[in-house]
Amino acid sequence: MTRHDSTTTAPLDRIAKIETFVVSIPREVPYLGPLRDGEFINDKGYLIRKGNRSIYPASDLSVLVRITGESGVVGWGETYGIAAPEAVTAIIDNLLAPVILGRCPSEVAVIWEDLYDLMRVRGFFGGYYVDALAGLDIALWDLYGHRAGLSVAQLLGGQRHHTLPAYVSGLPRATLAERCALAEDFVSKGYRAIKFAAAVSDEGIVQEMAALREAVGPDVDLMVDLHWKFEASEAIRLIRRLEPHNLYFAEAPCQPEDIEGQAKVAASIGTPLALGEEWRTVYEVRQRLTAGTCGILQPEIGHTGITQFARIGQLAQTFHKHVIPHASISTGIFMAASLQATAALQRVPYHEYQHSIFDRNLTFTEGDMSCAEGVYTVPTGPGLGVRPADALLEHVRGPIT
Ligand code: MG
Repeated sequence: MTRHDSTTTAPLDRIAKIETFVVSIPREVPYLGPLRDGEFINDKGYLIRKGNRSIYPASDLSVLVRITGESGVVGWGETYGIAAPEAVTAIIDNLLAPVILGRCPSEVAVIWEDLYDLMRVRGFFGGYYVDALAGLDIALWDLYGHRAGLSVAQLLGGQRHHTLPAYVSGLPRATLAERCALAEDFVSKGYRAIKFAAAVSDEGIVQEMAALREAVGPDVDLMVDLHWKFEASEAIRLIRRLEPHNLYFAEAPCQPEDIEGQAKVAASIGTPLALGEEWRTVYEVRQRLTAGTCGILQPEIGHTGITQFARIGQLAQTFHKHVIPHASISTGIFMAASLQATAALQRVPYHEYQHSIFDRNLTFTEGDMSCAEGVYTVPTGPGLGVRPADALLEHVRGPIT
């Protein structure tokens, strides 16, 4: 019996060239809002948020991947480049790209597994290494889709959704009164769900929740991102005080490694826990689902790529959990990938909407991706359904040909 792989059947295309680009897009107000007391931008362009002790770039950094097939057709990918994006481009350029030249893009899931295997027994289960895989993976799915004449959602088995509800993520204003006014503004535009960030709730998280509920009324879903700040018992006490205000989900209460703590919180509150923006593979998800840590999974496609995102989504379905994907700093390319991969899943009540990033990115991408009146439109056309616009390529560091 003949084995059916690219050595015995005509390949759709073959990978001829792989290029990476670091993108830096200036922004007026830093991510998560204006600088607060004691926060400053260092000479490399980064700031540390005192509220969650995490480092952020003052401009929006990202990594683009361009894969050209022997046919001349191009696939675009993007991965997480929020800090030290040069680490990711070095891994792709020097380590991974030479390994997959000549492979067929329709083998994309096999290629992900092969690349994961290269460093697996050395303990590279996440971080920059798997981010690099994500960028390649998204570019390969895009190239595969363009060669096949199908969207990524179609390639994943079928497009279940053409639109997706969007929840407004973050209210980047300096005072609680201003944040309430911004929330009211989004509700007046048709948005039905809003998440606030505990890291910038100076007046207190319960006070913030109460004020927002008062401002937006009873019919809007309100979520809180707790930014991994709390020990489990503290988190339980806090979330119970938020629940009278009808909390839709509580995100990331305990430190990411604290599986027992997250499970304890999940078992002790009535509100679903939402976790997962820092996870990269289905292996990380499996142990957290079996431990009973959460009711909602938030995969970030900038970390997972499309292959792992789809597997995480399918695993979530087998545990009867919802998926509400995370949307990080990007140029719009991996955002399109996230909408495509989400459109193929069943239980997706919302997709995160980073308004300060997504709206701007529409000028950096060509395609019909949009978010308006509380609803995303999944881009149409082959592959991701979007391409980088010339305006985006102007922000690439160094020459682009
Ligand atoms: Mg978060």
